[in-house]
Amino acid sequence: MKIQEADAKSLLVAQGLPVPPWAVARSPVEARAAAERSFNAGADKVVIKAQVLVGGRGKAGGVKLAGSPAEAEEIAGRILGMDIKGITVRKVLVAPAADILREFYLGAVLDRGARRILLMGSAEGGVEIEQVAAERPDAIVRIHAHPLLGLLDWQARQMAFALGLSAHRQAAVAIAKGLVRTMVANDADLVEINPLAIVRSRAADGAEQLELQCLDAKITLDDSALARHPGLEAFRDLDEEDPTDAAARAEGISFIKLDGTIGCMVNGAGLAMTTMDLVKRAGGEPANFLDIGGGARAERVAAAMRLILSDPKVRAILVNIFGGITRGDEVARGLIEARGLQTREVPMVVRIVGTNAEEAARLLTEARFETAGSLDEAAAKAVAAAGVARPAA
Ligand code: GDP
Ligand code: MN
Repeated sequence: MKIQEADAKSLLVAQGLPVPPWAVARSPVEARAAAERSFNAGADKVVIKAQVLVGGRGKAGGVKLAGSPAEAEEIAGRILGMDIKGITVRKVLVAPAADILREFYLGAVLDRGARRILLMGSAEGGVEIEQVAAERPDAIVRIHAHPLLGLLDWQARQMAFALGLSAHRQAAVAIAKGLVRTMVANDADLVEINPLAIVRSRAADGAEQLELQCLDAKITLDDSALARHPGLEAFRDLDEEDPTDAAARAEGISFIKLDGTIGCMVNGAGLAMTTMDLVKRAGGEPANFLDIGGGARAERVAAAMRLILSDPKVRAILVNIFGGITRGDEVARGLIEARGLQTREVPMVVRIVGTNAEEAARLLTEARFETAGSLDEAAAKAVAAAGVARPAA
């Protein structure tokens, strides 16, 4: 689950990282009021930032500075409602603008190969890190955190020095360690600060000082670990959640939309992947990954069918059920019920083996469903039904 910058920042603050104060506004008037508070607190400019779950907002015109509350209101009015990479902006973040001297990248991802958290840093911050990684991989410093002890002091120092932050060593070490803690504490699979910036600010006595601040934050949480963090559920942004994803979640179905034309309904994640592979081998392209889960009853099967059919690209459906805890006859009943509700005619090929397969076969034959014995046969029939030409041998 991706979370918004403002929420990501609150998780960084919880680990003691330096983030300028911010407010979230849903209207130009709210943005004006937030800006007014920043100006009253001594800011000479504010930054207004679109809150959407995509990167590159700056380039898309979703990050702007304002010099007065009136200007903040006007700019917020332009950003709210803006389309950024297909998403409508519904809220903006308002914060005192930082006076940036240099921008860095600091991020952590789960490195599954190494089974460790990988901390990455670059002195070429601000821009999208994917671009740096592609063009100049040497410009990225990589350090694996200790699996039990987290990022150790010497590792954090190594990162600070490698980025040329020796003048800010203590702050950089605290930020690098805090970033890894943020990752672990929330079961995140990505935490990014881009930019981590050296900013000019005023100390309490009015003297000018340079300090490190986290000006942007991006966090992706591991969906499978959300049950361990009930508090984080509040960060789910329903404005931006795809309605199909929301429906799947509500039904307890694992569903991932893909680009093909053959809808797949399978029980078990491994079997679902195998089914997709076989669809491809038969010359087709799967329209989705769908695991109806163990012990699925008729209602859940019907819900899965609605999810598959909500994709207009689907031209055929392949149902592949290996009955264990899941009863074949329940699935067959669900399919029959779902077909009755179907709003458009889509050919369906069903393979059900295992628990209560005979009863399932009887029900399906009676209801005139197309069935298949083997998975290869089912895939071939579905591909043929979708009208996909087999690639030349
Ligand atoms: P992103 O484009 O979605 O990654 O959004 P960011 O929050 O990273 O903003 C993009 C760029 O806008 C940054 O790299 C900065 O150069 C600039 N920016 C963001 N916040 C501030 C700020 O407070 N002051 C100034 N002067 N520039 C900012
Ligand atoms: Mn950024």
